[in-house]
Amino acid sequence: MAKIRHVLGISGGKDSAALALYLRRLYPDLEIDYYTSDTGRELDETYALIERLKSALGKDITEIKPIEENNTNAESNFDHFLELYGGYLPSSMARWCTKKLKLEPFENYIGNEPTISYVGIRGDEDREGYISKKSNVQSIFPFRENIWSEDVIKKILSNQNIDQLVLLYERAMEVKELEEALHYISKPINTSYTQKQKLEALLRIGVKTFNQVVFQFLKTTDYPIGKLNSFPLIENEDIIRLDDVFQILEESGVGAPGYYNKLDYEVEIDGENKKGVYARSRSGCFFCFYQQKIEWVWLLEQHPQLFEKAKTYEIDGYTWMQEETLEELSQPERVIAIKKEHYLRTHREQSKSDNNWQDDILAAEGVGCASCFI
Ligand code: SF4
Repeated sequence: MAKIRHVLGISGGKDSAALALYLRRLYPDLEIDYYTSDTGRELDETYALIERLKSALGKDITEIKPIEENNTNAESNFDHFLELYGGYLPSSMARWCTKKLKLEPFENYIGNEPTISYVGIRGDEDREGYISKKSNVQSIFPFRENIWSEDVIKKILSNQNIDQLVLLYERAMEVKELEEALHYISKPINTSYTQKQKLEALLRIGVKTFNQVVFQFLKTTDYPIGKLNSFPLIENEDIIRLDDVFQILEESGVGAPGYYNKLDYEVEIDGENKKGVYARSRSGCFFCFYQQKIEWVWLLEQHPQLFEKAKTYEIDGYTWMQEETLEELSQPERVIAIKKEHYLRTHREQSKSDNNWQDDILAAEGVGCASCFI
């Protein structure tokens, strides 16, 4: 049997930390290599979480380097590439930072060995995460009901593989249970019956059976999992949501990253003093352009030196946000306006949901980069 490598990227965020702990507890025999790719511009709370995680896992977390230290005089990995890009700040439209600081170092680290990469996208999220373009890397999503990546699902459910799927289900299921599954399997995907509907129908019939069938199907391909004799996660039916992630972190003693601590702020609205709460919603660089206005205010008030540092990058017309500079955002009247808007929005949403802090995290996760924030 070919040697297959198992890896898990630790971003410094809650989900990848929880996934590492979860897999360690449930599947101690999986020899997983943990790695992290440091931009050099993360919050101290992120570095602290990684240290706590190392102790809890009892294993080192390899730091993969986007650039060898003796090949640069820059203050950080981020600054090295910023110099190469002539001071052009990254943005959601030109995300060179993720490419240079996360994705390329990951692909170099992996090399050409067949590799399974575990990704902490949760069961309550609707996003796919980063899928490596390298054919020797296969992503697995243990927190979701569907643990397989989109490319695998597309392949196995494609209309041209219906006959193969029928055969695999016939082998995996008792004859008396087979009828319903065959009904869905033999139905071709088209505009009125989507891949998503077909997948949901098959998962409803049985997650373990579906996983068993995918595993057998992969044996006919070059995917890394197809080279294994067995893969324990095909027996896993857990769906891990946001609440579960926090529970895993608490129970392990690692705890949630410190930047999630909710802090009070005060703002005057219609002559009344109101108390709101703010926190940062995710890991990543302290100046990340994906953060919301209220998170910039949080940085200004909770980490003033880092805010000042972020400001120093705004030169030659380059800014972190399109519509205002950090100098403008830090003006007292602007800070009050942002807090007011945040207070009113979150309290409006709170009347619809009794878990509005979690809603804030879920909303923030809708945008951004899965490599930096998982
Ligand atoms: S956290 Fe934001 S700024 Fe940092 S590398 Fe990721 S996308 Fe870029």
